[in-house]
Amino acid sequence: MIDPFGRHISYLRVSVTDRCDFRCVYCMSEHMTFLPKAELLTLEELERLCGAFIAKGVERLRVTGGEPLVRRNVMSFFERMGSKIGHGLKELTLTTNGSQLSRFARELHAAGVRRINVSLDTLDRAKFRQITRWGELNKVLAGIDAALEAGLAVKINTVALKSVNEDEIVDLMTWAHGRKMDFTLIETMPMGEIDGDRVEQYLPLSLVRARLEERFTLTDSGYRTGGPARYVTVAETGGRLGFITPLTHNFCESCNRVRLTCTGQLFMCLGQNDEADLRAPLRASSDDTLLNAAIEAAIARKPKGHDFVIDRRHRAPAVARHMSLTGG
Ligand code: SAM
Ligand code: SF4
Repeated sequence: MIDPFGRHISYLRVSVTDRCDFRCVYCMSEHMTFLPKAELLTLEELERLCGAFIAKGVERLRVTGGEPLVRRNVMSFFERMGSKIGHGLKELTLTTNGSQLSRFARELHAAGVRRINVSLDTLDRAKFRQITRWGELNKVLAGIDAALEAGLAVKINTVALKSVNEDEIVDLMTWAHGRKMDFTLIETMPMGEIDGDRVEQYLPLSLVRARLEERFTLTDSGYRTGGPARYVTVAETGGRLGFITPLTHNFCESCNRVRLTCTGQLFMCLGQNDEADLRAPLRASSDDTLLNAAIEAAIARKPKGHDFVIDRRHRAPAVARHMSLTGG
């Protein structure tokens, strides 16, 4: 699949649920309304949809959410998708808050998952509560241990939050690198209504990088995982540090991905509202002709780039939907 700007679409992120056992302050409001369960695609329907994308050239599949590991029977989905590795699919990955990893790490590895991203914004128990509202740090740390023991490569993703965890970034990085985990910082993105104020939370990574450079030697690295992160190596820790900067740096020109929601909507860009309905063509027939045509029409509409701006005057999100619908 090649889009109108010549970008090869080889990466699908699939959000298997919009639900979550946390309520992170930058992601959700405390009293989120979730989709009625009846609107969700079944796991079998999600498998068929992902299968159609793999047949069309998708080589990497990332399972996300909401919290993917809270969806009932989600391991059967991992097993089915894992069976496609080596048959078109090159990699099956997961983005998780880590709360259920103690239970599922071994099964994920057995299904063929080799790399996972765990979102973790602080190592302080009270602050963790404050950021996730409902999460327990100990469970996540135990989950990370279980993942490493199971042989999964773990990357820690941290959203940089002004006055919340900016003083902890060095500790998080040295902790992650000390355990042979990559560490990536993400800027907050203006998506979905939340209870707090995003402008107050926004911390530009250019500033974080400049501060880190006062203490560490950062060398640009050509390392890529097929995602939007740009990496440096940190001489003092020997580890890799990534930056995802949708607001201060344009990452659109090399965008290779589309995002599928748990109701079968396809978003061609994280920072745009345009979506294509794949559920109707999926359900219209057991044959994939209509579905394939709908996928092709959607890819032909992939926009050149996002419109993220922090709207300082109105303080409104640039994109109304929550990150939990498309999974980041
Ligand atoms: N629940 C899983 C997790 O937290 O990893 C997967 C879904 S979560 C929506 C995916 C990623 O998006 C997480 O790393 C989270 O920190 C990030 N995220 C959520 N809302 C965001 C926002 N408004 N700006 C930047 N990153 C955000
Ligand atoms: Fe849940 Fe992930 Fe959103 Fe936090 S960032 S509320 S863990 S979906």
